[in-house]
Amino acid sequence: MKTEPCRALLLVLLTALAGCAKRHAPETVTPSPIPVVKEWNMKDRIEKTEAEWQQQLTPEQFQVLRKHGTERAFTGRLWDNKEQGTYVCAGCGLALFESGTKYDSGTGWPSFWQPLKEEHVGTTVDRKFFMTRTEVHCARCGGHLGHVFEDGPKPTGLRYCINSAALEFEKE
Ligand code: FE
Repeated sequence: MKTEPCRALLLVLLTALAGCAKRHAPETVTPSPIPVVKEWNMKDRIEKTEAEWQQQLTPEQFQVLRKHGTERAFTGRLWDNKEQGTYVCAGCGLALFESGTKYDSGTGWPSFWQPLKEEHVGTTVDRKFFMTRTEVHCARCGGHLGHVFEDGPKPTGLRYCINSAALEFEKE
């Protein structure tokens, strides 16, 4: 009679463990659906109407890139991505960051201490929400990426805090 509850408990434990294993299985990040632009002459800036962007992007990408939105921390698909490769703009494919400069900032957003090329990202002062922050955007299409802070690691001391939704990942 006593073995039955034990067996039931064991079954519950095994089911829970199987569930955990499933949740923590490494997620594969799908390749960038837009062509990656590695070199950019700073002339072919992308200009599209709001309607065109809305048609091209997912609602989440549109909210972040075109409406300066911010995804909830730890919800994006790239904050914990540890694969080697290039992070590109989800709006226009411009190569923005490399996996070699990505680090775990503990914030739940993909964080980098340096852009791939200085001229690929632009910055503006953002005074929303009673704070003064430096907003980061794609220099080619103007899409909002996130913010840059001065509490990053060496050698730059910068923390580019970027929304997963603003990025696509191209595996090496
Ligand atoms: Fe872009």
